[in-house]
Amino acid sequence: MLKGKVAVVTGSTSGIGLAYARAFAKEGANIVLNGLGDAAAIEKERAAIESDFGVKCLYSPANMLKPDEIADMVKLGETELGSCDILVNNAGIQHVAPIEEFPIDTWNTIIAINLSAAFFAMRAAIPGMKARKWGRIINTASAHALVASPFKSAYVSAKHGIAGLTKTAALETAEFGITVNAICPGYVWTPLVEKQIPDTAKARGMTEEQVKKDVLLAAQPTKEFVTVEEVAALAVFLASDNARSITGSLQVIDGGWTAA
Ligand code: NAD
Repeated sequence: MLKGKVAVVTGSTSGIGLAYARAFAKEGANIVLNGLGDAAAIEKERAAIESDFGVKCLYSPANMLKPDEIADMVKLGETELGSCDILVNNAGIQHVAPIEEFPIDTWNTIIAINLSAAFFAMRAAIPGMKARKWGRIINTASAHALVASPFKSAYVSAKHGIAGLTKTAALETAEFGITVNAICPGYVWTPLVEKQIPDTAKARGMTEEQVKKDVLLAAQPTKEFVTVEEVAALAVFLASDNARSITGSLQVIDGGWTAA
């Protein structure tokens, strides 16, 4: 379905991003992988995408805190693979603490990685998409783009910001064959969720098991984590030609969380 397209996926060395990269590759897209982590582990994932799906997969070490490196990541897709047709802004981090104790540096870092990086990547990718009259921009937002939770001020602010950026970019690109959408997952079992459990336990005075059951899954009427494969399947649909009229939307995939 995506043969000949190039997908640049930020934060794709782990979790949801890696599932996106593999799902796009399965549909025949060439991939620019990006994210932090152990070099050997990243190389293993990169090589596996090439051998499992018979596509090209390059790695960009761009740090989402650095606008120049973000532009270079998009350029890598364009120069080495021919284009950047699908841009997935997915890199993200979390920190859990009450506002009055929230470290100022951490606030700035979360806004930079979870929100500003998406703006810098779009800024770099949109000219090529406009010229080719085809593009798909998919931003991983969150249920936290629609509702809040206590102790996640920076994350919730960044994700609400991503919702606004998604709609604005959709309006600016609507006549160029480009769609811009956000995916809003509920809780997906990934390292990002696993890592926040000890801090949430501390902030709420609970055990880690109680956090999993009474905080995370309590929010989701299905009482089950969303899987990375389900999120990736939604992204593949948004990248397809059948989704060409879906733009400026927030696609909720949250086990019913935001219906409550
Ligand atoms: P994850 O921790 O498994 O993956 C995060 C990715 O971002 C990694 O590849 C990491 O290397 C990369 N990253 C972090 N900082 C970076 C930086 N400075 N530069 C480049 N890459 C960087 O987490 P995940 O759960 O897969 O999260 C992916 C996205 O999904 C995030 O935007 C997150 O907010 C969103 N999300 C996750 C959930 C969930 O429950 N897991 C729910 C809703 C939304």
